[in-house]
Amino acid sequence: MFRLPVCPHCGTVYRYKDTKKAIKSKDNICYHCNKKFRAVIFPGILIAAGLPLILCIVINIIMLSRMKEAQMIPLFAVTLVFILIIYLIIPFFTKFRKTEEDKKDKG
Ligand SMILES: [Zn+2]
Repeated sequence: MFRLPVCPHCGTVYRYKDTKKAIKSKDNICYHCNKKFRAVIFPGILIAAGLPLILCIVINIIMLSRMKEAQMIPLFAVTLVFILIIYLIIPFFTKFRKTEEDKKDKG
């Protein structure tokens, strides 16, 4: 289910760290075949992120209803953990696509 992206030209599998680097920079050059590609975050991340986010809100509501005194730190911590999870899974929802220059060449 979770897969790290591959080079659209040669199919080289990118490691987690390399994928994060590729997301940050606009144009990437494959270290294996020296061809250009772009990193695109897959829309599926919204579904994958949506579920923990709903869970996060539910936990927040439960915590708020049980604690009459406003305790922002645990709420903040729970929210932060979920944001961190989403951030960590982004490379698994990234695809590498050929740049538009390559598309023009194909006609
Ligand atoms: Zn390549």
